[in-house]
Amino acid sequence: MPAHTPHPQYRVPLTTVSTRIDNAAHTAHRNPADITLLLATKTQPTPTITDAIHTYRHLVTTQQITNRPLAIGENRVQELSNKAADLSSLRLSAHLIGPLQSNKINHTLTALAHHADAWVDSVSTPQLATKLNDRWSHTHPLNVLIQINVSGAPTQHGCPPSDALTLANHIHTLPHLQLRGFMAIGPRTTDQTLLRDSYHSVAAIRDAALAEGHKHATHLSMGMSNDLDIAVECGATIVRVGTAVFGARPSLA
Ligand SMILES: *Cc1c(COP(=O)(O)O)cnc(C)c1O
Repeated sequence: MPAHTPHPQYRVPLTTVSTRIDNAAHTAHRNPADITLLLATKTQPTPTITDAIHTYRHLVTTQQITNRPLAIGENRVQELSNKAADLSSLRLSAHLIGPLQSNKINHTLTALAHHADAWVDSVSTPQLATKLNDRWSHTHPLNVLIQINVSGAPTQHGCPPSDALTLANHIHTLPHLQLRGFMAIGPRTTDQTLLRDSYHSVAAIRDAALAEGHKHATHLSMGMSNDLDIAVECGATIVRVGTAVFGARPSLA
């Protein structure tokens, strides 16, 4: 039993998100515990994050809610770095979920190395993969996801769907990287058909990669606060949730 007293503020949002994931999994005849809840923690101070996670762990032991894996994700390298020392004691997977510029690779890898399990979810080019491989100096591999630009919009980050398997094959040649699957940011729409089509197309890429022998590439990171239910129906194994757990973020404008 954690000695920590849970903060009541998180009881409702975390339980609500967890139940939404459970319900979507049941609809899709999937095991709810197979779906990781990645907390998108941008702008949240570290005490807020650790409180939320301690509370979740407490609820798992006291209220028989689904004991699903948790992870933390930051989309800016500077924030990942600032929070790394404080959050590493949670012993969770830590993910960079935002775009990564070449000049920030060293900074990113230093921050991720604090954590029990390190992931870069936004690998989109062979050049970036090669640089990550060359600079990751630990014996355990760096977990990576290929980010797919599912909408095809030139303003969106990610690998074109048609290049995804070539990139997967390239990553396979890099000994310090382990390809764990694919990540996508859904189109900004409430059109459920469009969302489903997008997520099914990412799932099809994952299935093709598995069929080609990328046997660790099982993950599909897709779905956020607004559409995680649809993403789970379409096969998401990681949903990235910020607002639905922590409330609205302060405006950065
Ligand atoms: C912020 C963020 C999320 C979470 O978005 P919410 O709508 O707050 O749930 C998910 N993925 C990425 C890449 C993000 O930057």
